[in-house]
Amino acid sequence: MQLKKIILLPSFLLMTSMTVQAQEPQVIAHRGFWKTIGSAQNSITALVKADSIECYGSEFDVWLTANKQLVVNHDETFKGVTIQKASTKVCTAIELDNGEQLPTLEAYLQKAKSLKTKLILELKSHKTPEQETQAVINITNMIKEMGLEKRTEYISFSLHAVKEFIRLAPEGTPVYYLNGDLTPKELKEYGCAGPDYHLSVFKKHPEWIEECHKLDMKVNCWTIDKPEDMKWLIEHNVDYITTNEPVLLQKQLNKPQ
Ligand code: MG
Repeated sequence: MQLKKIILLPSFLLMTSMTVQAQEPQVIAHRGFWKTIGSAQNSITALVKADSIECYGSEFDVWLTANKQLVVNHDETFKGVTIQKASTKVCTAIELDNGEQLPTLEAYLQKAKSLKTKLILELKSHKTPEQETQAVINITNMIKEMGLEKRTEYISFSLHAVKEFIRLAPEGTPVYYLNGDLTPKELKEYGCAGPDYHLSVFKKHPEWIEECHKLDMKVNCWTIDKPEDMKWLIEHNVDYITTNEPVLLQKQLNKPQ
């Protein structure tokens, strides 16, 4: 009996430590890993660099151009060009801060095919719901054609875009809502994978984290660059942390560099 206890104890401890490790938040590089030499926000280099430091995922922003094609950038108006109103040709002529041209989504995904990191694709809120529906159709078709369906997760501040991703992406594709104004129960009813909210929302409603887990949803939080905020989220068992400082977060999680 005593011997059995001695044998069982180490395996129990091992299982416990494995469980604890599995609960650690995963690192998502916000706009790729761009705070490093030769990189820039939403550049293909930033995606490659996020992959090179083994981030769980690399986040990036997508717009539909005036001629209904998709490009990767954060800003509604970037270097004087309003992306929704401009042609793809005009958008891709813009030079990013690292000297790369502003990428099309197609070029971005072509590069992603050779990498491992998850693609956390944010569709920006457009002027009309029709533009967003068109963007979701084009995105989900392109992701399917490129064989990236299992590596892609969708996020948006637009509830319309979120609903369209849930409608058009394969069943079970993670779709997160960013805007912070829906409760866990409401997110679940829409079919979301969970909230991807600003830290202030979770500070106001820390109970939502556990509530999401009970509803079998995951919790992501943006954009966390301060060690004390990382610590708070790690202690509150969130599943993902989106950060401009992925190396700092990895250190905080004691991940090998
Ligand atoms: Mg974004």
